[in-house]
Amino acid sequence: MLKGTVLRAQNSFFYVDTAEGIVATKLRGRLKKARIAVVPGDEVELELLSDGTGVIERRGERKNLLRRPAVANVDQVVLVFAACHPDINEVLVDRFLVLAEWSGIRHILLCINKSDLVTEGAPDLQKIIDSYTAIGYDVLSLSAQTGKGIEKLKRTVTGKTSVFAGPSGVGKSSLLNAISPGWYLSIGSVSEKIKRGRHTTRVAQLLPFVDGFLVDTPGFSATELADITPAELASFFPEFRPFLNACRFNTCTHSHEPGCAVKEALNQGKISVSRYTSYLEMLQESAARKKVYR
Ligand code: GDP
Ligand code: ZN
Repeated sequence: MLKGTVLRAQNSFFYVDTAEGIVATKLRGRLKKARIAVVPGDEVELELLSDGTGVIERRGERKNLLRRPAVANVDQVVLVFAACHPDINEVLVDRFLVLAEWSGIRHILLCINKSDLVTEGAPDLQKIIDSYTAIGYDVLSLSAQTGKGIEKLKRTVTGKTSVFAGPSGVGKSSLLNAISPGWYLSIGSVSEKIKRGRHTTRVAQLLPFVDGFLVDTPGFSATELADITPAELASFFPEFRPFLNACRFNTCTHSHEPGCAVKEALNQGKISVSRYTSYLEMLQESAARKKVYR
């Protein structure tokens, strides 16, 4: 039995990266009946047929699953923003971070691209970088244009399955191209479709890259905070976690309640105003959504 990793689903085939090359496969009916779904990133075992196609017989256990778009076994999320053009928007950064935390993916790398457009050591940007570093996130300031930081980014993605996400226009494609020249060409028709069709934007695909894979996610969208409930939201802000059990009420939403340890930490400067503001904004949205469902 041949082992491999599912790269993408296309025209009812799953394309699997194997030692014998990329094999177009179908799912064994038995798996379909058992409702075992296969998505990009899944480890599978397949039987090779005489016509060169294959049949997926088994799917491995998943380490984790990114839901929108579906990608299994993600090691790392690489969030890409631009220092300017478009200006970095901290609320948006926080939304992406929360989505990544919610997906259960341990490693999150925050990349600030287009650093060439910033005068060296511009105070605002450095402040933002420092604040996310203080929370414990890895932050990389780089430039797809000048190549600054690209070697470091390459090292960070080597041997891992890394999902790239971020708003459009920040230079995500340029960065992917810089670490893996020609990756657009190698992805070919699928990526063309993704670029053009509004309705196909939720497709993700893996690109093999030095002992690992790169995943572009045109659809990993921070505009919807999916299924995050008001009660669990605070736990996706890592710097809030030490205080969450110290509030007077165990149902504390850390917004208006007396004896709130999170607000106390905010007053003491242990939590930043900017992060707390993002939290309140997301809390409101999450609570509004809950009402709709009720
Ligand atoms: P995407 O939408 O995130 O994939 O962004 P693109 O890779 O298409 O880049 C958007 C625009 O930003 C293009 O005009 C790029 O040439 C430009 N760009 C990308 N990276 C850099 C960079 O590091 N510095 C500068 N100055 N421009 C960049
Ligand atoms: Zn509280």
